[in-house]
Amino acid sequence: VLTHVVAAVVGAAVLGGVYWVGGQRVRPVTPVAGPDPRTALPDAYAWTALPAAEFPIPPYAEHLAGVKIVLDPGHGGRGDRPKWKRGPTGLREAEVNLRVAQFLREFLLAVGAEVHMTREADVYLAADMSADLARRAALANALPADLFLSIHHNGADEPAANYTSMWYHGTGDHSPASRQAARWLLTALNEHLRLEQHLPCPLMSDTEMYESGFAVLRLADVPAVLGESCFHSNPEQEALLRDPVYNRREAYAYFLGLAQWAQAGLPRVRLATAGRVRGGQKVEVVLEDGLSRRSGWGGRVSKIVTSTIIVRLNGEPLGCEADLARGRLVVRLPRWLRAPAELYVDFENIFGQSVLHPVLTLPVGN
Ligand SMILES: [Zn+2]
Repeated sequence: VLTHVVAAVVGAAVLGGVYWVGGQRVRPVTPVAGPDPRTALPDAYAWTALPAAEFPIPPYAEHLAGVKIVLDPGHGGRGDRPKWKRGPTGLREAEVNLRVAQFLREFLLAVGAEVHMTREADVYLAADMSADLARRAALANALPADLFLSIHHNGADEPAANYTSMWYHGTGDHSPASRQAARWLLTALNEHLRLEQHLPCPLMSDTEMYESGFAVLRLADVPAVLGESCFHSNPEQEALLRDPVYNRREAYAYFLGLAQWAQAGLPRVRLATAGRVRGGQKVEVVLEDGLSRRSGWGGRVSKIVTSTIIVRLNGEPLGCEADLARGRLVVRLPRWLRAPAELYVDFENIFGQSVLHPVLTLPVGN
């Protein structure tokens, strides 16, 4: 009788391991460890308590199939330098970067993504540091990759520092697709690494660090992001980074971020008009929102936000007509058209995702 009274008052109650909800006795479906989730107050849980080390693949990760991703484990080689990119007890950043990238490759390959690594061993790609960085970006450009992801762990003189930052190149206009990918990855790392500190704005332009930005991002002609998931210079974090299970957690965080990024659609454009083009001619560009060609319910209507369409010819704005029913954009080329001519076509889909490769080189003929 007493338990019924209590249950009636609070709506749900736990007494002696027996659950009462709305006056009905309820059997717990799963045994509960720690605070009871039916009654625990928001402050009953510690944010930094990591969930079970289990790494299931979500169904939406299927959208990564066929997506070309370059993983760039930062640094490598130069292990002979005593204090070069090392944690307080000597853990090398290059080694952790590689382990995380290798775990991430496993996840990505499991769902059919096309993965390329800038390095697979503890080596540098060129003796000259600038050449080393240029080679990493060049690999992504040659494919071209749908995303270049450089994996790093941060270092600071202040041992207490330990937060996540995700970097894109230049201004917010330089590569919308880059900063969008960075945002998905940032939120996934926040969720899975459970760090206590955070930056007021953890999505960072590389020009906040160096005037010309980071070479690997600046030299990439494809969407490019550099992740500093946490600080190897922080003693507690360094201990975690020695643990391959923790490295796998980080790889899983990147993987889920990439899966969510792909689920949001990866818009693409291509020239529909065949052969050479000349001044005064109308050309058609195929617009793929990355979503509407998926089969099933919700796949029939264009998911392009028309107010976001941007067309530029060699940097100058150009008028256009969107024909979304046909998924086409019609552009009349100016009479003065001369080679080289780059047509930039960008838009956002309903998830706010921009075109991965917005620059089309026009084959200008006579
Ligand atoms: Zn680094």
